[in-house]
Amino acid sequence: MPDDPRRRTPRTDAVLADPAVAGAAERLGRARVKSVVVAVLDDVRSGSVDPSDAAAEVLSRLPAAATSLRPVVNATGVVVHTNLGRAPLSAAAVAAVRLAAGPTDVEMDLGTGRRGPRGTGALGALAAAVPDAGGVHVVNNGAAALSLVACALAQGREVVIARGELVEIGDGFRIPELLESMGVRLREVGTTNRVRLADYEAAVGPATAFVLKVHPSNFRVEGFTSSVPVSELTGLGLPVVVDIGSGLLAPHPRLPDEPDAASVLREGASLVTASGDKLLGGPQCGLLLGEAALVESLRRHPFARALRVDKLTLAALEATLTGPPSPVAAALATRPEDLMGRARRIAEELGGVAVASEGRVGGGGAPGVPLASAAVALSPDLAKALRLGDPSVVGHVHDGRLLLDLLTVPAELDDVLVEAVRRAAT
Ligand SMILES: *Cc1c(COP(=O)(O)O)cnc(C)c1O
Repeated sequence: MPDDPRRRTPRTDAVLADPAVAGAAERLGRARVKSVVVAVLDDVRSGSVDPSDAAAEVLSRLPAAATSLRPVVNATGVVVHTNLGRAPLSAAAVAAVRLAAGPTDVEMDLGTGRRGPRGTGALGALAAAVPDAGGVHVVNNGAAALSLVACALAQGREVVIARGELVEIGDGFRIPELLESMGVRLREVGTTNRVRLADYEAAVGPATAFVLKVHPSNFRVEGFTSSVPVSELTGLGLPVVVDIGSGLLAPHPRLPDEPDAASVLREGASLVTASGDKLLGGPQCGLLLGEAALVESLRRHPFARALRVDKLTLAALEATLTGPPSPVAAALATRPEDLMGRARRIAEELGGVAVASEGRVGGGGAPGVPLASAAVALSPDLAKALRLGDPSVVGHVHDGRLLLDLLTVPAELDDVLVEAVRRAAT
């Protein structure tokens, strides 16, 4: 039969030579593209794909980039969304990452051509951002920062911590278990809701390495509560280590209860640990700030090598600290009336409704603090198609409506959002 698809099936090489398919092979690797071509040609032979559509079918089955990660528009209103990779990087940080991806002088003094100290730009920027810190160091994440402190200062010894600060961060990760896994004995003081200076005084002794304060960054205890400020704990005569979690370097007017590194150091903390990808708005990393000699002893500890950050992180961190405001900072600086103006424009284009809404910082800090925002309310039936679109759009369903919250959507993505909703609705 002249119309038998088996006879009209193109050769693998011919499909691979198609300019668009060849371009995909350059981006994604020839082996990967070829395996898709082979699969498509099988379908041509079986008659489920028309021979003239082979190249287009191959392209439709290939991802846009050589990563299975998909870009998402965060319309949840949760500024630091753990499941969406926490802080999105600024354009300046992305450019810095691109630059650092090639060979770069991360550990070379180009003046002498010899080995130089690693990451001086990022560490200098961090030190400049927090002048109260005598020394600074950067590791892989907040948990790594705390692990290094525990390992270097308290292995085989005791750490005193309030019962109300035995925090689980998420996905079953618990700070007390992390400390115990480093060979630290925990000496818990106080009750879930209250702890006094006298509790700490009774617990410290020769075996105590340091007193630890952990910020409850994802829950709030209200009512009959009390805790001991850092300024009083310093009177115990031991190092006070404070895990502030969110990575705010200085007080933020919109988040008055969120601890920041500068204030905690000024209160007398010896060391502060924090994450880089929460309220600081940078790449995943862990910050260590505090007394110069202590920080230097951490940096020199053998375990520090296992927690070392790569050059991409150093580049992104420096750009976050010295460049234009990060998307997280920009979200926190938005005015609800501006967000409402955008919501109205988008709603008008889409036939939805603009509504006032409340965003949140999210897992990154400031639990329970509402952030006034505005959203476009649409039918919840669109939620799945929007999530599966390209780019994916993730909102949240509330009271039977899908809310696309604009607090976390940069204004330059408004058109992208409109287009995504139109596609999802068809
Ligand atoms: C988030 C957080 C951590 C863990 O930091 P990672 O960067 O996720 O490792 C530790 N302590 C507190 C108080 C936190 O909020």
